[in-house]
Amino acid sequence: MIYLDNAATTRVHPDVAKAMIDVLNNLYGNPNSLYYEQAVKSKNAIEIARSEIASLVNTLPSDVFFTSGATEGNNMVIKGVIEKSDKKHIVTSSVEHSSILETCKYLEKKGYKVTYLGVDNKGRINLNELELALTTETALVSIMWANNETGSLNDISKISEICSAKKIPFHTDATQAIGKVIVDLMKMSKIDYLTMSAHKFYGPKGIGVCIIKNFNPQNPTLSPLIHGGDQEFGLRGGTLPTHQIVGMGVAARKCKENLLVNIEKLKGLESQLLDRLHLVYDPNIEILNSFKEKTPGLVSVRFKGINNQILLKSIAENICASSGSACSNSKPSHVLEAMGYGNEIIKEVIRISLSPYDDYDNFVDFE
Ligand code: PMP
Repeated sequence: MIYLDNAATTRVHPDVAKAMIDVLNNLYGNPNSLYYEQAVKSKNAIEIARSEIASLVNTLPSDVFFTSGATEGNNMVIKGVIEKSDKKHIVTSSVEHSSILETCKYLEKKGYKVTYLGVDNKGRINLNELELALTTETALVSIMWANNETGSLNDISKISEICSAKKIPFHTDATQAIGKVIVDLMKMSKIDYLTMSAHKFYGPKGIGVCIIKNFNPQNPTLSPLIHGGDQEFGLRGGTLPTHQIVGMGVAARKCKENLLVNIEKLKGLESQLLDRLHLVYDPNIEILNSFKEKTPGLVSVRFKGINNQILLKSIAENICASSGSACSNSKPSHVLEAMGYGNEIIKEVIRISLSPYDDYDNFVDFE
C-alpha cells in the first residue's frame, strides 16, 4: 500500500505516539488543578509543548492558544474578531478551506458583508484586488497561506503588510504551510492571527492552535468561540487534553528540527514522481500545478478521459490518494473552478501528496 494523501492527514510520528502513550498512562492530572504533583506535571508538560509550537513558527508561547484543530481555530478567529468589532465586512478568497468559507456564509446570513477575492491560474489572490476590496468597514482579512488542493502559496508577507498599512487585522490559515515552507512570525510581523492543525505534520488529530499576536487578556481583540472555564485566559474553555497537546509539541519539535531537510526531500520526491508520471502516461496526463509558487510534494494531476472517482476507487486497494479536499469531497473542486478549470477537467483530477518520511521505491509501484 502506498500512502499518497498526506495533505488530507499524516500518520503519527512514532516519537509523538510514544510521548502521548506515556501521558495517557502516567499523566492524568487535570492541568488546571493546583498544587499536587499530577496536576503540576500536566501543566508543565503543556507549557513545554506550547513553547515547542511557538518555536516552530518563531513566536512567543503566550501567543499560542490550543484548539481542537484548524476548523475550530478558523471559526474562532473569524467569528471572534467580527463579534468584537463594530465593523461588518470581511475579505477572504474563493479558494479557502470550507471552515473559512462556511463560516463566512453563516455570517453573511447574519447580515455581515463578505468579499471573496478570485484567484489567478496559479491559485493566488491579486494584491491590487485586495487593496481595492479593503474599506473603512473591513473588520478582518483572512487569506490562506497554502492551498490544500493545489499547494498554491499566497504572498502572505505582502498581504499582511497591505492590511497592516490600513490597520486591518490579518488572519492566515497556515494548516497546509506548516512543514512545507518557513513560517517565521517575527520576520512576518504583520500577521495578527494564524491557525494550524497537528495532524498535517505527523501529530495527532483533534488538536491545533490559534496564534494570536500581542494578546492582552485585559483587552482581547476577539470574543471566545467556546465559553466555559478560565483555561487559555478564558478564550477557549474546556479541560486541556494533555496527551494531545504533548503530541502536538513533539510533532512541532520534529517538524522544526527536520524542516529544511524535509523540504528538500519533498522537492526531490515530487520531481521523481513527475518524471515517472510523464514517462508512463504522457500525453494522457496534465499537471495542473506545475508552477513554482506552491508547497513541495503536492501534485495535482489530470488523467485525461478517466473519471477521478472511478480511478481512485479502482486503485484504492494499493494506492491512497484523493480528488481534493477530504472535508468537502462530495462537491466538485471550488479551488480548480476558481483557477479557471471547467467541470469536465475537474472530474479527471486527483491530488497526490507526498511525505518526506517515505521513499516510495522510486514510484515503480505507481504504474
Ligand atoms: N484549513 C486547511 C487549509 C486544511 O487543509 C484543513 C484540513 N483539511 C483545515 C483547515 C481543517 O483542519 P482540521 O482537520 O484540523 O479541522
